[in-house]
Amino acid sequence: MAEDAPGWYTAGFENIWLPYTQMKTVTPPLAVASTSGTRIRLADGRELIDGIASWWTACHGYNHPHIRAAAIAQLERLPHVMFGGLVQEPALTLARRLAALLPGDLDRVFFSDSGSVSVEIAMKMAIQYFINRGTRGRGKFLSFRHGYHGDTIGTMAVCDPDEGMHSLFTGLLPQHHVIDLPLDPEKTEAFDRFVDAHGHEIAGILVEPLVQGAGGMKMHGPEVLRALRLAADRIGALLIFDEIFVGFGRTGSMFACAAVGVQPDIVTLSKALTGGTMALAATIATRRVFDAFWDDRPSAALMHGPTYMGNALACAVANASLDLFETEPRLEQVAAIEGQLKAQLPACRDLPGVVDVRVKGAIGVVQLDRIGDLNGLKRAFVEEGVWVRPFGDIVYLTPAFVATEDEIATMTGAIRKVLASRPKAERG
Ligand SMILES: *Cc1c(COP(=O)(O)O)cnc(C)c1O
Repeated sequence: MAEDAPGWYTAGFENIWLPYTQMKTVTPPLAVASTSGTRIRLADGRELIDGIASWWTACHGYNHPHIRAAAIAQLERLPHVMFGGLVQEPALTLARRLAALLPGDLDRVFFSDSGSVSVEIAMKMAIQYFINRGTRGRGKFLSFRHGYHGDTIGTMAVCDPDEGMHSLFTGLLPQHHVIDLPLDPEKTEAFDRFVDAHGHEIAGILVEPLVQGAGGMKMHGPEVLRALRLAADRIGALLIFDEIFVGFGRTGSMFACAAVGVQPDIVTLSKALTGGTMALAATIATRRVFDAFWDDRPSAALMHGPTYMGNALACAVANASLDLFETEPRLEQVAAIEGQLKAQLPACRDLPGVVDVRVKGAIGVVQLDRIGDLNGLKRAFVEEGVWVRPFGDIVYLTPAFVATEDEIATMTGAIRKVLASRPKAERG
């Protein structure tokens, strides 16, 4: 901890437990005093340009005045009422707007408060869809290597089992099928064989469309998603798109499903849903899925209901975030960022230890053969005045869409500089 750490830091640090962190050997986290736009201001006065947008949430930058005004107005009117038996304007308006934005008849919105939970709800929906229709034995999911769908017990079981975050728990989890995406002819053959052998027990095929985020920023094309749609139809399973990372413009269009013209049966959204301001998630079902729950039997209802479901404050903020997609040129900004990342990041290809550079929308990735000293690398970026958080074997940028050309150039320049000056031992 720095000598000049604020009082709240020294007073509280012994009581906090940090995410994915060995607390005994933790590199002390940086104390943040405030945020604005694309900047994170530290308690010690330094300012960082944010390359990550707070785990991909803050797509409009921090403290956008329109979002702030919506939050304040809603706070004065009605921050929250229980969603059982009571509804309010922000939640219903948000449901209507999400349904209108999503393609086809994805028009029933079930709110929750985190991405993991929204995926759990999608899984429950899929399993109960079959139970309600009287089909037995559809209790498994098919998901993919390098996939990430959350940290709860249910979602851990559909993540890549070897990615490390959850490997401790593998033996305890419900057993689903995690296989390779059908990326090439050989993998497609294996995929088809697998699907034909196990199709009868599969309730849903679950995928992060176009970019698998937390599992290593792996990218694939629309043909892969078309193959998944065909496979789901062939075996009578539901297709679930987890758009928690890619949704709201990150890959260049509002939603991946609309961009690739593949209609999923269920979509999950979170992360940028509130523009990085509040915790909120949504699971959206097509009419076909919803109809399986539309019944006179109370037992056919979807049995789920988080305490803070449809939180009015969060929904008002999400509505304000959607306003900004209409009133400000977000997707044009993403296209410009994509162009700039494609122009500037490939220069990293010549650096030692770099095995791949890839860009999709406002996502730029430099993959290394290995990262030995992750903490050293993180520190080097802070010294360059940028907030870049490498993980696994990648260094990546997912900036706010409002990042300026100069800011993006500073960040790609910092990546080049830091990777070029990695010590030789570190490169293996
Ligand atoms: C972040 C993420 C989740 C989990 O969301 P939480 O809000 O952290 O629970 C699930 N799926 C994808 C694709 C994500 O990127």
